[in-house]
Amino acid sequence: MRWSLKNLIQIVALLAIILTFLTSTTVGYRVNKENLIQTTLETNKAYAKKLSSTTDTYLRDILQTLEVNAKEVIPLLDDPDSQPKLNSIAERIRTQTSTFNSVAIASADGVVMGVSPPSLDLIGEKLTSVGARQTIKDKKPLISNPYVGITGELIIFISVPLLTEDNVYRGFLGGAIYLNKPNILEKILGNHFYENGSYVYVVDRKGTLIYHQLEDRLKDDVSENEVVQKVITGESGAQELVNTKGVPMLAGYSYVPIADWGIVSQRPVNVSVASAKSMVFEMMWKSLPLLLLALFLVWYLAKKIALPLQKLAYYTEMSTESDNKEKMELVSDWYYEARQLKGALLHSLDYFKNEMNFFIHESTTDPLTKLTNRRTMDDLMKKWVASQTPFAMFILDIDKFKRVNDRYGHGIGDEVLIYLANCMQQVVRKGDICCRYGGEEFVVLFPKSDKVTAYLMAERLRETLESTVSPCGEIVTISIGVAAYPLHADHPARLIELADQSLYEAKRTGRNKTIVASNEPQHE
Ligand code: GH3
Ligand code: MG
Ligand code: MG
Repeated sequence: MRWSLKNLIQIVALLAIILTFLTSTTVGYRVNKENLIQTTLETNKAYAKKLSSTTDTYLRDILQTLEVNAKEVIPLLDDPDSQPKLNSIAERIRTQTSTFNSVAIASADGVVMGVSPPSLDLIGEKLTSVGARQTIKDKKPLISNPYVGITGELIIFISVPLLTEDNVYRGFLGGAIYLNKPNILEKILGNHFYENGSYVYVVDRKGTLIYHQLEDRLKDDVSENEVVQKVITGESGAQELVNTKGVPMLAGYSYVPIADWGIVSQRPVNVSVASAKSMVFEMMWKSLPLLLLALFLVWYLAKKIALPLQKLAYYTEMSTESDNKEKMELVSDWYYEARQLKGALLHSLDYFKNEMNFFIHESTTDPLTKLTNRRTMDDLMKKWVASQTPFAMFILDIDKFKRVNDRYGHGIGDEVLIYLANCMQQVVRKGDICCRYGGEEFVVLFPKSDKVTAYLMAERLRETLESTVSPCGEIVTISIGVAAYPLHADHPARLIELADQSLYEAKRTGRNKTIVASNEPQHE
């Protein structure tokens, strides 16, 4: 396949457009994706921080509430009738704080003295749960690690010691949060914006899940997770990671000091960057009209650029046709190279035309007299005979020309020949053709004319010479034979022969005269 300039320009420009489009789309996608990742990380970090500070404040408030109530409980411990009162204090704490699923007041050996809800029916029972044992052991405010209670619930126990004024340990006041049931953590953390794919989870100081949107993940050990490892050592921050399920995540994390918990807010990477993909499609879609416009412009400009060169190439190929120069001059040359090329081609076309004209002239003209040469004369007569165009002619010969040469030399003889040629051209009409037939013999052709015209012209020429001094200083005379087509012959050679015979007759009968061929048509 041979490529045209137009196609080449179009292909190159198309490639440039497509590459630019792909590059800008790819860069746009990458930048957007990077921005989205950074924004998501920042958002999750800020959100985890907010949740941890809310949770921390809330837990501190709860511990304080328990402390206040503990002061109310202590004077009642020695009163044997205080049990209903203790029950009502427990009930009040549970209902007013809306934090605990159950609240208990117990003695220093863990025997229940007051409980809410009453349905638990634990009065007089000894509490042996992990939480109860730990609070009796520590004798300090406590937020326990999660453990499985006697009822099978997954529990976090929050308690304060009951200390008398003289610092005697009399028991504890505590509440249990059942992690598998609707609870306070859910209230604080549950209104999270899950719809955008992000979610929150909370781990305790060992890296155990104590809050997760999926209940069956509670109590899972996620301490292997690198974000969990950081957050339980008290760090806060944000990072990209692969979670325990192998999903790439963008996580923000924050530490809850009061409970040694860690809160992590995270969102899957692919959900976060999804909008970057839709942005790319939107960008492609929106840039489609511009793209189409660019393609049209490329097509149009390629045509505009290639057209002058295409035309110049065509006219150069066809340079022998006569009107190609005019057509070439009309080719639009609106840019530098086309202008240069057109100029150069026109210039060379002119040059070759001149050369050609020169050679045509050379090949059809006699060099001494500048008259038409014999070959051209023969061609003309053949052409006229072929097209049956009538014409007349005469042939002349200088009288005694040898003598001119002998007397004045060949150079002067040549000047006489030139002089004769000039006289011939002045005498004949425009359109009549003067030829040098041989050495000092000449022929004049009269197209569309008859023998009378030729005769009159011959006589006029003869008389002119007769009355003018030639360059040799003497008058030269001529003898002439006239013939006409188709009157005398229908073949050029025969016509010349007849004219020549008449010329010979003129010589023979005294020279300086014109004789017309016999009127009888003579055929070969
Ligand atoms: P006539 O025709 O009257 O019978 O006598 P002529 O002396 O003219 O005889 P002819 O026509 O036979 O002679 C032709 C002479 O013309 C011969 C030659 O020397 C001369 N001649 C032919 N061509 C040229 C030429 O190109 N230049 C010159 N100077 N002389 C030429
Ligand atoms: Mg002669
Ligand atoms: Mg002669």
